[in-house]
Amino acid sequence: MAHILPELPYAYDALEPFFDEETMHLHHDKHHQTYVNNLNLALENHNEFDSLTTEQLLEDINVLPEEIRTTVRNNAGGHLNHSLFWKWLAPNAGGIATGEIGDAIAAEFGSFEDFKLKFKAAATGRFGSGWAWLVVDKDGKLKVTSTANQDNPILEGEKAVLGLDVWEHAYYLKYHNVRADYIEAFFDLINWDFVNELYSEIKNRM
Ligand code: MN
Repeated sequence: MAHILPELPYAYDALEPFFDEETMHLHHDKHHQTYVNNLNLALENHNEFDSLTTEQLLEDINVLPEEIRTTVRNNAGGHLNHSLFWKWLAPNAGGIATGEIGDAIAAEFGSFEDFKLKFKAAATGRFGSGWAWLVVDKDGKLKVTSTANQDNPILEGEKAVLGLDVWEHAYYLKYHNVRADYIEAFFDLINWDFVNELYSEIKNRM
């Protein structure tokens, strides 16, 4: 079965004024769609991988034939990362982390503000295109990381509970070269309910 572009879980203008409608259209309808198309194209003549999810493809990336490995890494990564990203955002959200993840963040980083500083540093410091992450590592510990391109933490055996796209396509129309303002705006949109869902799923599987 071909991979498909999920619909946004809210209207394109729902995240205004933090993320603008035009960027949401381009980002979802064009950029995300392109990752989906390129993934389907790469797998076209390899239907033995048809039943695998993007997570399963990336978890076992070295099983893939070499001629499609990099394409799948980039585009299954792009598809997975963006599918999560839309759910990590919500209107009337953001602020200090709530629930179980709020407690875990305070325990691991000292306070929410300390976590935020660390996450912002990772997002600002990623040179070129990539993502900043809050992950659960192999020992079940929360960690702030960043990756290049569309690499998902799953490639390192880590599970993402929160991620921020820092590719220029995510912010250039509204924020131009000022990535820091885009990162700050992200903190007004984080859907902590979804982060909590992912966190308890991960903890339950460990
Ligand atoms: Mn993107």
